[in-house]
Amino acid sequence: MNGESVAINGGTVITQDQRRSIFRANLLVEDGLITRVSQERLHGDVEIRAEGKAVMPGFGNTHCHAAMSHLKGKLDDMDLHAFLEKTFDLDARRTEEGLYNSSLLSMAEMISSGITLFSDLYYGEDVVEKAALKSGIRSALFWNTLDENLTTQKGNPVRNAEKFIRSDRTSDLIQRGIGIQGVYVASDDLFSQVNEVAERYSALIHMHLSETRKEVYDCLRERGKRPVELLASLNFLSSRVIVAHSVWVNMNELNSMAKAGTKVSWNAISNAKLGEGGVAPIPEMLRRGIPVSLGTDSNGSNNSLNMFECMKFSSLQVKGQRWDASQMDAQTMLDMATMEGYRSLGLTNGGIITEGSLADIITLDLKAPNMIPSSPDNLVQNIVYSANPENVCDVLIGGNIVKRNHKLTTIDPRSLIEANFV
Ligand SMILES: [Zn+2]
Repeated sequence: MNGESVAINGGTVITQDQRRSIFRANLLVEDGLITRVSQERLHGDVEIRAEGKAVMPGFGNTHCHAAMSHLKGKLDDMDLHAFLEKTFDLDARRTEEGLYNSSLLSMAEMISSGITLFSDLYYGEDVVEKAALKSGIRSALFWNTLDENLTTQKGNPVRNAEKFIRSDRTSDLIQRGIGIQGVYVASDDLFSQVNEVAERYSALIHMHLSETRKEVYDCLRERGKRPVELLASLNFLSSRVIVAHSVWVNMNELNSMAKAGTKVSWNAISNAKLGEGGVAPIPEMLRRGIPVSLGTDSNGSNNSLNMFECMKFSSLQVKGQRWDASQMDAQTMLDMATMEGYRSLGLTNGGIITEGSLADIITLDLKAPNMIPSSPDNLVQNIVYSANPENVCDVLIGGNIVKRNHKLTTIDPRSLIEANFV
């Protein structure tokens, strides 16, 4: 943090507070937090003039693989199993420089489109962390593990993850955890080792779960249980666990996830693009109180890291599938993209604009043609169904300005044009 206070004056604030209030107000940011929300014009070391702009919490993207951004356009039109085979092969040959540059590229895209927090699942998270420090984005970095005989990582994946979690803290913006690629590469023993590490360091766990029908039927055939049933039998489901996908889950499985407090990251675009057939049963999850947030997944399977697109596509997919336009209304989608993302990663004072909450804030240009007319009555709808990343003017993360007047301040994307990504 550079210690400068920032006043954001004159904007229309989408608070995401309990009443979902939207009103004209001025904000003061000091030491990484929002310290004042006021009708009075406020003074800070830096002033952002927000007349004609919406001021809202930044987005929390709860599933990504930042180091895969350079794979956009290279893994299209194939299913997950062909996709994974190809990425495992590409991963085996990568350099630290390539991981760093690719991660930084993802972060440039995320910050630019208003994502202030992301969750990452990969090996080499120490390198992803260096890129996160450079970019100034807030992150939860999960070192991915799988059975040692199946990995391309050097050394034992669980020991690698533990070493990463134990290493000296570098920034308040970074949280470290342990990941699992999926049941298809994880023995019962791996689950208990990962649980032990997570408990020892009070760390969160992130994994892919029940993404495809093939994953479910292979698991049934080989281990006699569906993936969620397997995790329940291993005492692995808990509120410490955030799972990505959960497309192919039955109602009994949802009951055990709800009981355990497990959280879901919904990656509708990636699931649809990989032709996974089903649509995650989100209304049933919400009815059971399962916390659901949104994930972009990587640029390999989504091709963009764009939460506006995620909110709109995810909502439309369920409306269409259920023959019910009232499903997944705009406010529900905005909640998933902001506060639910933060809460799922343990940041209960984020994704909201109130005094004392994290200063992860974005401003959106309401004078752009696609946002006219905007008023408090239709603003949330416009953000979910009409907005795009070009509308993002300013981005603050932990009180630091990382995008100002449509320009990134920590990363020069042009420096990445000719970069080595391998
Ligand atoms: Zn993924």
